[in-house]
Amino acid sequence: MSAGASGGPGAGGPGGGGAAGAAGGNAAWFHRARRVIPGGVDSPVRSFAAVGGTPYTVARGQGAYVWDVEGRRYLDLVQSYGAVLLGHAHPAVTEAVLRAARDGTTFGAPSRGEVLLAEAICDRVPGCEQVRLVSSGTEATMSAVRVARGATGRDRVVKFDGCYHGHADALLAGGGSGVATLGLPGSAGVPAGAVADTVVVPYNQVPEIDDRVACVIVEPVAANMGLVPPAPGFLQGLRRACDDAGVLLVFDEVITGFRVGPGGASALTGVRPDLWCFGKVIGGGLPVGAFGGRRDVLGVLAPDGPVYQAGTLSGNPLATAAGLAVLEHVAPADHRDLADRVAAFAADLAAAIGGAGLDVQVPVVGPLVGLFFAPEPVGDHRQARASAASGTYARFFAAMLRRQVALAPGPYEALFPGLAHGRHELDEVVAAAGDAAAEVAAVGAGRGPAAAG
Ligand SMILES: *Cc1c(COP(=O)(O)O)cnc(C)c1O
Repeated sequence: MSAGASGGPGAGGPGGGGAAGAAGGNAAWFHRARRVIPGGVDSPVRSFAAVGGTPYTVARGQGAYVWDVEGRRYLDLVQSYGAVLLGHAHPAVTEAVLRAARDGTTFGAPSRGEVLLAEAICDRVPGCEQVRLVSSGTEATMSAVRVARGATGRDRVVKFDGCYHGHADALLAGGGSGVATLGLPGSAGVPAGAVADTVVVPYNQVPEIDDRVACVIVEPVAANMGLVPPAPGFLQGLRRACDDAGVLLVFDEVITGFRVGPGGASALTGVRPDLWCFGKVIGGGLPVGAFGGRRDVLGVLAPDGPVYQAGTLSGNPLATAAGLAVLEHVAPADHRDLADRVAAFAADLAAAIGGAGLDVQVPVVGPLVGLFFAPEPVGDHRQARASAASGTYARFFAAMLRRQVALAPGPYEALFPGLAHGRHELDEVVAAAGDAAAEVAAVGAGRGPAAAG
């Protein structure tokens, strides 16, 4: 019971415990969280392990902003790591979820929402003829790989160092995002056998592949080692190499799908994979994923074919309603406006941080923005790691948080400005970034790069 458990957070935030747990501050809530949730977080990327300090506990969000349990407001560039495109608590999403909830939350029988969301996805992504809905991006990539193996009769999977495809055993090796932030080579608890058929190769180089390979899986725009755009010709080269060896090409568009443009990265780049993975945006902030592709490829799935894949909550009515509300709300012109706004923002951000004396790279693809404290553009995981090793990101993160701008608490995540981030909000970020960078640069100059932990 929450009232009983709120007894003794001696580390004390303001308010500390009492019968009304909600009166507790960030420190009190995190203290409670750590007692009953490993590390206090339900996903390691939310911890402040890489940046130091105590995470703020969110009480609510609205548009571009979130408020913590102490009532402090942050301009939020995390946006659930890309799951939120319209901004927090957008009325179109909230209304859709409420309407759906009144009719029942899950049935275990086909429902209209899943058909409508599948149609909306297939309509927008040229070449994607069918999708199956699941409940997370992890399930989507895991299932896409199984389909690829089932369809080709081959075992081997090629992935790129620094690309993150969720936390399924076979795909964690060389993972970006939290795996990289925590410096893990992969993960303990994954038997050697589970990754024996996973080959990890450097991003932005077309690897040698042969007829033992079932699929090559790639983030067409890498967004889990910071933001690393595909080098010119990389995706085209992958397509050709896959065709030559009869290998299926899988685009993991869990971040890029319906974010970098109305048809995602495949429509943007003109390179068409055999299988797509989606998640994040298509759930409107509820748990969803999807994998899709050509009808002949997906035909291997049960009940029509021999590849088993299932989910009690797959195609959940609340999640499909939320996702559909997002896809229907966003017009192609919104994508263009956002991309224009963000391009200007990225240039301003680079100028503000660079002007304060820090080496910085601010890559941008559509509305996706990266932030590397590095003198040269970053093209792969090795370079991303070198940039992160300086520790500048952690200091900059803390300086921004003091200015009430929330970035992800790790150097390998993208920034996620969305439709709620107007010119005004983005200008606020730029102003805060200039100040924060000046503070970081001054501390760096005065006390050496390891100061201000
Ligand atoms: C977030 C992410 C995933 C995993 O999705 P979950 O919903 O967290 O399981 C997979 N691939 C990419 C590219 C992602 O960014």
